Amino acid sequence: MTLEPNSVYEKIITELPDGEKLKSCLQCGNCTGSCPSATDMDYAPRGLFALIAAGQDEKVLRANTFWYCVSCYQCTVRCPQEIPITDIMYHLKHQAIEKGLYTTDAKDFSGTFIGMVEHFGRSFELGLAAGFHLLHHPLESVKMAPMALGMMSRGRLKLLPKRIKNMGQLRAILDKAKEIGA
Ligand code: SF4
Ligand code: SF4
Repeated sequence: MTLEPNSVYEKIITELPDGEKLKSCLQCGNCTGSCPSATDMDYAPRGLFALIAAGQDEKVLRANTFWYCVSCYQCTVRCPQEIPITDIMYHLKHQAIEKGLYTTDAKDFSGTFIGMVEHFGRSFELGLAAGFHLLHHPLESVKMAPMALGMMSRGRLKLLPKRIKNMGQLRAILDKAKEIGA
């Protein structure tokens, strides 16, 4: 396959460590099947990679997919081709920012997630979903309440966030990462 210079595909392959592994994608769908955010994404990971290979760059960079990625690494662990999927999601965020192609809704979701990690050292699913939906789709949050209550009663969802033990260490790492990225 010939890579278009400066295309989304070419940038992943040349700029990201192990990015060239994306060429070996089998379209097996293990990534999509493992992704907790797949149902909210415009294109789940497998579909997004098909668009990237087809050179549909604008569709790719306007998608909410990588903004809804919560960096759980489940896709990366389960990919039979060891494609660094989570890292690709980060790379796509950078590409979308560089080209000014992103929606405010999607960026807000990502911002809420980052805020939680900075505050508690981990994601807090109930706060993440509630914060985002209350801001953008208040009616949706009411519809989601019965499901959330059911999950809470089965211990699958926590009512309050719990801060990790070594928050100071994590803050130092995050500060360093911001300093390097600035
Ligand atoms: S799990 Fe890996 S090989 Fe399978 S579709 Fe996803 S990226 Fe491609
Ligand atoms: S790392 Fe992102 S894309 Fe991969 S399974 Fe988790 S949320 Fe989905």
